[in-house]
Amino acid sequence: MRVILLGPPGAGKGTQAGMIAEKYHVPQISTGDILREEVKIESELGKQAKSYMDKGELVPDKLIIDIIVKQLDEDDSGNGYIMDGFPRTVNQAVAFASALSERGEQVDRVISIEVERDELIRRLNGRRTCTECGVRYHIHFDPPRKEGVCNECGTKLIPRDDDSEETVPNRLEVYRKQTEPLIDYYKGSGVFEAVDGVGSIEEIFKRVEKALEG
Ligand code: AMP
Repeated sequence: MRVILLGPPGAGKGTQAGMIAEKYHVPQISTGDILREEVKIESELGKQAKSYMDKGELVPDKLIIDIIVKQLDEDDSGNGYIMDGFPRTVNQAVAFASALSERGEQVDRVISIEVERDELIRRLNGRRTCTECGVRYHIHFDPPRKEGVCNECGTKLIPRDDDSEETVPNRLEVYRKQTEPLIDYYKGSGVFEAVDGVGSIEEIFKRVEKALEG
């Protein structure tokens, strides 16, 4: 099962991708998580990516495509994967399609999670992440048992750097200009499904399952 999850920042892609990965036993490939890890270990890639990420801009296509091509050749990708946050530009989608066709593969489903702007801003403002194990929470919709502390490992929770009030409007604008055109790119492909991203995490997952299995 090869799946792409599209949607603006705050639509719940990471949460839904994690649930798909668990249920269908495929790895979740999150370019955002890969980049954040590279920034954390201060690798060459991380240093190049950081300035873009801090401003809410997209990291150049070439760097992202290299990451993805490497991932496609990992052993655990043989059975499929769920792409979370990739592709983000039509260029990336075209490069991805050609990397897949070289391998005799194709995408089975492209699911677009739809949420309107005001709701996205509310969601992004309350997101918190564990600095140690990466588990995500939301102060209103998915709070930890003890305020500000990770359920899994007891580490302090912090907002993501790029969820700040200054960066969020730019990330939404970058999505509208650079990523939204992907919806038209995939619409005619016969594998595209739009899903309403408003409701409880479980309600949305039911819609996602239906889109995957329908
Ligand atoms: P995310 O966690 O998916 O919201 O990604 C966080 C940041 O990583 C984005 O704002 C971009 O700066 C960068 N990023 C993640 N995925 C991509 C991608 N496919 N193309 C370009 N930049 C990306």
